[in-house]
Amino acid sequence: MVLVGAGPGDPELITVKGLGWLRRAEVVVYDRLVAPTLLEEAPAAAIRIYAGKTRGRHCIPQSAISPLLIHHAGAGRLVVRLKGGDPFVFGRGGEEVIACRAAGIPVEVVPGISSAIAAPAAAGIPVTHRGLASSFAVVTGHEDPTKPETGVDWETLAGGLETLVVLMGVGSLPTIAARLMAAGRPPSTPAAVVSGATTAAQVVITGTLADIAERARHLSPPATIVIGEVVRLGEDGAVPIEAASRWTSRMSPCLD
Ligand code: SAH
Repeated sequence: MVLVGAGPGDPELITVKGLGWLRRAEVVVYDRLVAPTLLEEAPAAAIRIYAGKTRGRHCIPQSAISPLLIHHAGAGRLVVRLKGGDPFVFGRGGEEVIACRAAGIPVEVVPGISSAIAAPAAAGIPVTHRGLASSFAVVTGHEDPTKPETGVDWETLAGGLETLVVLMGVGSLPTIAARLMAAGRPPSTPAAVVSGATTAAQVVITGTLADIAERARHLSPPATIVIGEVVRLGEDGAVPIEAASRWTSRMSPCLD
């Protein structure tokens, strides 16, 4: 079984290695966020199995996915498990690898470009930048942030100058922003939401912690939230003109 990261949306953002496996696959088990055109890369005779979770579409419960992989791989077929972004970044890839190995199925993992870095990059936002952020954290916004037992420690994350990247957080953005501000992140902290990153549907909304939830309320998933000073460097960022041109002129020798 080969677990392959399909990249964030643009089908060209799969790795050469991942594409190589896909072109030899006998069975492809793919998720909702995988670019549809990528599936055309698999041989015509390959069995294609949708394992996503969209309402109204046939879907396989997560608990049935590993047995499915084991079934096909155990029958000697080359199985490619194709997941959006990187399979190990909130992709439950780990569970499937553990299950396959436990069943004696050899597994190769081909990492993918995660939306955690690709979505900010597609909006021109570097997740680290000298003088602005020397680290970034990638967290899930999916857990209910109003519940005290949430695994994400928003209060600790609020401290410091660092960049926060929140996946699966659009629905919870009002609460996430409120918790970060209550814990001391200034309301003026730049924030962006990038929806449909690296696809034709890409939309970037920028603002501050104080107003980003309101500004981005019409955006539809998948969307990635970026919070921190680095957002100022983005193409649609709230960069004061002066600072922007200083940054551009500093960059220009490299562009010659
Ligand atoms: N394994 C994936 C993430 C799976 S969780 C990866 O590494 O990218 C799904 C979340 O990823 C979405 O809720 C959204 O926050 C983010 N995401 C995936 N594709 C995206 C895209 N094209 N644009 C913006 N965010 C995206």
